[in-house]
This record gives sequence, C-alpha cells and structure tokens, in this order.
Amino acid sequence: MPNSSDTPWWIVRHSSIHQRGVFARRDIPKETRIIQYVGEKITKAESERRGNELAAKAAKTGGAAVYIFTLNKKHDLDGSKSFNTARLINHSCEPNCEAFISRGQIWIYAKRDIQANEELSFNYGFGLDTWEDHPCRCGSPRCIGYILDEQYWPKLRRILKAREAKQQRIAELEARAQLLQKELDEMTPAPKKAAKKTRKAAAKKK
Ligand SMILES: [Zn+2]
Repeated sequence: MPNSSDTPWWIVRHSSIHQRGVFARRDIPKETRIIQYVGEKITKAESERRGNELAAKAAKTGGAAVYIFTLNKKHDLDGSKSFNTARLINHSCEPNCEAFISRGQIWIYAKRDIQANEELSFNYGFGLDTWEDHPCRCGSPRCIGYILDEQYWPKLRRILKAREAKQQRIAELEARAQLLQKELDEMTPAPKKAAKKTRKAAAKKK
C-alpha cells in the first residue's frame, strides 16, 4: 500500500462545499491510505467537557466545527489542531473516502478510485442526537440535508417525514380556521352598528 508520508496524495485548496478542502493531487487508487487524522489523545471525560464547550459556542454563534473523533472506549482524538491537515477534509453524503482506526491511529482511506483534482470527503459519522446542528451542503444528489452517520439515515428520514406531515396538518388546520372565522364574521352583526344602537337607547332614556 502506498505510503502518504513519502508521496503526498493530497493538496489543500478552496472548496465549494465549505471554505477550504483537501483535493487529490493525482489519481488515487481505491484503498490507498491517504492521510492520517492526527490530534490530541484525550480521555472521554475531557472529550465530553470539550464537546459541551463546543455545543455552548454553537448555541451562541450558530455554529462550531466538531473535530473530536472516537478512538476507542477510553479515548477520543481532538483533531482541531492546525497541524492536522485532515481536519480540512469536508463531509459528504456520497464520500470518496472513509475513516478507519487501526492500531490507535485514524487514517483516511480511498473508498474508490479517485481522480486527480477531485475533492476528498468522508462521512463524519455524527450521531442522531445533534443532527439539527449540522446541516449538510455537500451538494451530492443523495444528500440527506444533515451531517449524519449513514446508519441513522432511515431514522432521520422518518423524523423528517413526520415533521413534514405535522407542518402540512398545521397548514390545513389554519386554512380551515380561516374559513370558519370568515363564516362566523358573516353571521355575526357588525359590532359598530350594535354599539350605536346602545348609545341611542341610552340617550332616549335621558
Ligand atoms: Zn450532504
């Protein structure tokens, strides 16, 4: 298998998906180990602390990049450091790369043959609990709209479908309510006339 440290397969360029991206410098054969995802090895507790910090930041600013990778049951890898070029690889719903953990290291592999100048991408594998925080703009025809591990796609489709059905039902009820209100308005005497009569009646008494 070709080694990425001898021959860099990649190059960083401007990306139409999101700011910068990593591109194939030349043709990359399927299953090539392209680049290592490096970072700081941290405990799950520290990972949770950093994750919460990111979530708080995202709530304030409307977005925060997540670079924390699950390594094993005890440790995660924080890849937010600038020396980790692999952090610039964008997510795609139809990726040409895949992230693999082998012997405590995370590597980005070619999922298929990749042509020179293609943008490299992999599925970030995010969980279902935060899907709404991470809209996807990968532009792939099979984009599901959110950055999400593919194993949760069927579940998300059900959630989105239920949400759409609810929205439609609300719209229907609102339209019906408007019709009923109109009918009610037509049946009820205008309030102004009623008010005048009362005033006249009161004046006669005086
Ligand atoms: Zn997408």
